[in-house]
Amino acid sequence: MATRRIAEILRNAQPQEQVTIKGWVRTARELKEFTFVEVNDGSFLANLQVVLDGSLANYDTLLQEITTGASVEISGVLVESPAKGQRIELKASEVRVYGGADPETYPLQKKRHSFEFLRTIGHLRSRTNTIGAVFRVRNACAAAIHQFFQERGFLWVHTPIITANDCEGAGELFSVTSFNLKNIPLTPQQTVDYTQDFFGKPAYLTVSGQLEAEIMAMAFRDVYTFGPTFRAENSNTSRHLAEFWMIEPEMAFCDLEGNMQLAEEFLKFVFASVLEACPEDMEFFNQRINDTVLETAQNIIHNQFERVTYTEAIRLLEKADKKFEYPVNWGLDLQSEHERYLAEDLFKKPVIVTDYPVEIKAFYMRLNDDEKTVRAMDVLAPNIGEIIGGSQREERLEILEKRIQAQGMNPEDLWWYLELRRYGTVPHAGFGLGFERLVQFMTGMSNIRDVIPFPRAPLTIEF
Ligand code: ATP
Ligand code: MG
Ligand code: MG
Ligand code: MG
Repeated sequence: MATRRIAEILRNAQPQEQVTIKGWVRTARELKEFTFVEVNDGSFLANLQVVLDGSLANYDTLLQEITTGASVEISGVLVESPAKGQRIELKASEVRVYGGADPETYPLQKKRHSFEFLRTIGHLRSRTNTIGAVFRVRNACAAAIHQFFQERGFLWVHTPIITANDCEGAGELFSVTSFNLKNIPLTPQQTVDYTQDFFGKPAYLTVSGQLEAEIMAMAFRDVYTFGPTFRAENSNTSRHLAEFWMIEPEMAFCDLEGNMQLAEEFLKFVFASVLEACPEDMEFFNQRINDTVLETAQNIIHNQFERVTYTEAIRLLEKADKKFEYPVNWGLDLQSEHERYLAEDLFKKPVIVTDYPVEIKAFYMRLNDDEKTVRAMDVLAPNIGEIIGGSQREERLEILEKRIQAQGMNPEDLWWYLELRRYGTVPHAGFGLGFERLVQFMTGMSNIRDVIPFPRAPLTIEF
């Protein structure tokens, strides 16, 4: 008999159906005549309750082996459950234990563990309710992202992980060193250069696929990337990782207005899709992690995002009856506390801030006629702050050259980027959205390290 997933059984199956399941034991409770075993296979928040009784051939040995953490395959018949809160349960007729788990040493005891502790057992933490729910939501979110772009005719492009450019110009780079074991010297007289770069040229792990996505947009019009990104983030915050995934749409024949519309439509679509795909998990986050999760989702889906210019945002922050830790001044970047004030306290919904000062934004953003501001847009959201950063790109060759020079960069390094402005240039725009930031925002999880399976941040390299 084909194995069925527990999510599908709990959602659709009827009493009297014969089923086989495979999964891990969450708890086993021995009563006088029965043993209740809760089994989870990762497909669903709730466990399937399995009833074992003395009619099983190997009942007594089974009781020794079926402990929390053990892997099992169980066949039997579904019956209506007399217990509250569950529709059906499985009456076992055949049980096989694949691998036991010593209850004395199994790290996941039946209690609530702190997320700090769970981070130290990254190889087991996905077997907990919360982390399990996070990764199901993460999966649904990734699927919704592809669906959104694919339905709109965007081409998914794969930009390189090893690059020669620092797209953001922020200098938060990991560099790549080539190190070929075959070149290890055979005699002590030979030396090896451990600081070699990428076969003679400097190379870095990508901080953003944007520049390469722009190349692709100049042939396919609408493209998007969805891949890993690396930043040597010095800070130890709850919203930054050294390795995170980024979604970067890039659209030719598009201005800032079109970009803002896409960003809003995108967030609405992804939230609605995840609510539909994982209602139980989202309900769980609302109950157990942060009681604003569902409200925030509805807020995103139903309210039109606010739009203000950076200049207006500064005026609002200056007027605010709130003490900020960081200064508010035209020309300074907004800090997370400012971003959250705007989205959370003032507008109580997502806010798109546009037209930032040229000095604080990257070289590729299109210069406005005032020559002081650029066509940038940041989407700020309640509880999290910046979730999206984007802009219309500079499509005019001479101005772009000047901007590159003004930032102390060498135009020759970006000759190919400049050539895109020489041959068939066109207004274009795009944005970058941190995937983990989005999942964190959606689930209400307080630390970004708990929404990625293998977090890379200072002091977290474990695998
Ligand atoms: P922040 O102000 O939060 O540091 P940023 O302005 O440096 O973000 P961008 O270069 O605009 O970031 O990158 C686009 C998006 O990528 C951000 O809006 C955010 O969602 C996400 N992001 C940026 N840095 C990180 C990071 N270190 N870890 C996780 N996500 C990140
Ligand atoms: Mg940053
Ligand atoms: Mg920022
Ligand atoms: Mg940004």
